[in-house]
Amino acid sequence: MNRFSRIIPLILLLVLGLLVGGCQTSGRTGQSGLAHVMRVIDGDTIVVNLDGRNYKVRFIGIDTPERGRPYYWEATQKTREMVLGKDVRLVKDVSETDKYGRLLRYVYVDDKFVNAELVKQGYALQFTLPPDVKYADLFRKLAAEAREKGVGLRSSNTAGLPSNSNNAGKQDIKFIGNANSQVFHYANCPYAKKIAPDNIVNFPSSEDAKSQGYRPCKTCNPK
Ligand SMILES: [Zn+2]
Repeated sequence: MNRFSRIIPLILLLVLGLLVGGCQTSGRTGQSGLAHVMRVIDGDTIVVNLDGRNYKVRFIGIDTPERGRPYYWEATQKTREMVLGKDVRLVKDVSETDKYGRLLRYVYVDDKFVNAELVKQGYALQFTLPPDVKYADLFRKLAAEAREKGVGLRSSNTAGLPSNSNNAGKQDIKFIGNANSQVFHYANCPYAKKIAPDNIVNFPSSEDAKSQGYRPCKTCNPK
């Protein structure tokens, strides 16, 4: 037993060393990397240090309220509480960066999936933007549950919800699909505005929508 208790920590250290080493060598462009969180810009954007360089990271698949909107502060605080000063694991989906040059990543602290946690606790809405949709169904499910429970920005005040038009302005989204009907619209189509928040899928172009199997709306006839 004595010998055993001396060996176990050694084995753990070895395994940990292998894990950490494995993550670091995969680097920025790899599937995953360990990074240190230097700063939290808002609920869904952070600055990390990776191999001595700083990078902005935008969380994939979620959207937290913009500065000046209800729940902006709470969402930023929640992200701060979860990741600031910690080592996080970054996992990419399909895209390396968004058009602002921010790394698009799923963020993990130990085993905690931060993107999912923010939606689950009502600090973020799901924000589906193909091709990075690996966890879109999970985020949609968590968002629906948060709304049912009335937690976070899903509580009493719907003014806290980032509106479709806000998303459109921020991300230059011109096309919006309905995950249920698999129909897509111009963002300003009256039918687009009626899509339940949990079913919204954003497309930068109609080609993106069609490549995902979405059909154009017969009313607004998106080109
Ligand atoms: Zn339409």
